[in-house]
Amino acid sequence: MEVVFLGTGTSQGVPMIAQPDLPGACDLNNPRNWRTRASVHVVMDGYHIQVDAGPDFRSQCISNGIDEVDLFILTHSHADHILGMDDMRRFCDLRGFSALPVFSNPNGIERIKVIFPYAIGDKPVVRGYPAFRVSEMPGKLDCHGGRILSTTLPHGSMDVLGLIFVDEQAGKKFVYYTDCEDVPEEALELARGADVVVLDALRHEPHSTHMHIEKAVEVALEIGAPQTYLTHLTFMVDHDPVNASLPEGIALAYDGLRLNLH
Ligand SMILES: [Zn+2]
Ligand SMILES: [Zn+2]
Repeated sequence: MEVVFLGTGTSQGVPMIAQPDLPGACDLNNPRNWRTRASVHVVMDGYHIQVDAGPDFRSQCISNGIDEVDLFILTHSHADHILGMDDMRRFCDLRGFSALPVFSNPNGIERIKVIFPYAIGDKPVVRGYPAFRVSEMPGKLDCHGGRILSTTLPHGSMDVLGLIFVDEQAGKKFVYYTDCEDVPEEALELARGADVVVLDALRHEPHSTHMHIEKAVEVALEIGAPQTYLTHLTFMVDHDPVNASLPEGIALAYDGLRLNLH
């Protein structure tokens, strides 16, 4: 299994640029502090699964060499996760101008239909347009290379899909829990035994709809995976000092980070 972190940030990048002297703001000379909207690309036995596509998706694909998507999963319908979906048009072209299988929860599906009504169907309405064959994400989705389990994470008034990737051939388990204020019991259970876990950890200060760093570290220790990465970080998280302060086996993710799980 290969995992590429296309983005590890939030939509709060502009204050960092406008107010670089803000207390706690990160060091702009460190490339690991240049974060685009959170998104991850998982490859299982050559099968490419894209999770979320925010406004940075197109440039993320170019800078990370992403040239194939076989399946798309939208964790939830917030702008920083959904607004780049139109840019999957090229991946529909590459499939012989056919629709891309898209999975989400009911709220995600409703929003996809509102924002991209021209893209719903089995093939593009115009050659070169995107096309999405939209289905509700089941609890267990068998796909080439393994299976993807899903669970529900709380995120303010919204439900978010928590995803567990199981690569049969590699015998590896990868967990991606972004955008959540907590990790409920069922999600903790599903994460146990994972090789790598990714958790939402917005910033140091508590937030009503996201876990903050201290909370995410608590959850990481409870799950007990050998390696946990924190993602969906704001401009208040300065990579090097914060990363150095984390317990062993827990690190900050950064844009372009690649994992090879074999
Ligand atoms: Zn969100
Ligand atoms: Zn988000």
